[in-house]
Amino acid sequence: MRSLWFVEPGRTEWREVPTPALENDGQALVTPVVAGRCPFDVPVLSGATPLRGDFAFGHEAVGKVVAIGDAVAGVRPGDLVVVPPEICCGECGRCLRGWTAHCEAVPHGATYGLAVAGDWGGLFDDVVRVPYADAMLIRVPPELDPYECVAVGDTVGVAHDLAVRYVRGEGRTRVLMLSHGSTGLLVVACAFVHGADYVVYVDRNAENRALAANLGAVALSEPPDLAAGWFDLVVDASAGNVEWLRRGIELSAPEARVQSLGGIFGATTVPAYEMYVQGVTLRIARANNVPNIGPALDSIAAGLVTPSLFYSDIVAWNDLPEAILEPGRKIVSRHDDQA
Ligand SMILES: [Zn+2]
Ligand SMILES: [Zn+2]
Repeated sequence: MRSLWFVEPGRTEWREVPTPALENDGQALVTPVVAGRCPFDVPVLSGATPLRGDFAFGHEAVGKVVAIGDAVAGVRPGDLVVVPPEICCGECGRCLRGWTAHCEAVPHGATYGLAVAGDWGGLFDDVVRVPYADAMLIRVPPELDPYECVAVGDTVGVAHDLAVRYVRGEGRTRVLMLSHGSTGLLVVACAFVHGADYVVYVDRNAENRALAANLGAVALSEPPDLAAGWFDLVVDASAGNVEWLRRGIELSAPEARVQSLGGIFGATTVPAYEMYVQGVTLRIARANNVPNIGPALDSIAAGLVTPSLFYSDIVAWNDLPEAILEPGRKIVSRHDDQA
């Protein structure tokens, strides 16, 4: 079968690899129907992360189930499903606490498309093996277009969870979003849905700023100064802009939450004394995606968030090795569109 591989910075290619088969009763085989480029993939492809090629690429997809083991109860062949990035069993102590990115049954950090802990394939492959089908696969409701759901297992779920947990759940209604693309825009959209009353969106890309302004945010190309006031929730999806993260911490309100979604590689410094005085909680983490998927699908079905507003054009599947390297917003491709 064909598999998209990250070879080295600035280069991906199609490779012929063995088609995976079921290895036990609890597994499923899935063919990606729609797959996307995560904003985190951009620094991976440019060589800005510690991840070095070569490996099968891609960790955001909706797929169609093509085969299941005898013990699989949650999905059937033909079902459309969200495939999460992380490989997780659903039964170990950490999975049961919802920490699905830290499953104890697989090498720590096991993920599709990033070769972090073993080779699990990538979600641009023709066929993907899902080691724990009932724990990992969530059915897409029939009324939803899989195109809208391509990033539900990843960035859409993260944005929805941040908004529900911290904006609605903790009343953090002043939000500072440090962004470089679709993840930040999704956070803005979800934050307003869940009760934010003031959102400042910071992005160097004018097109993204226009989209954020349409959502009701104050859109800036650099973080604001203190005259803008303090923020209860600061989200960093700037792909490693440490200066912006520090600025976000300095703009934090008492007991603020600062959440970095990744992109900072290696050591850095933070304004620890200011954090101490304000009582700032800083979390830098990979997301536990599986628990976010169902609620994010519900949110799309209810019309509360429309992720495709923040995608770039659809690219042809055959063109992915070149198209995935292009700058711009989120790239999405349909597997049946080979043209
Ligand atoms: Zn991702
Ligand atoms: Zn587990």
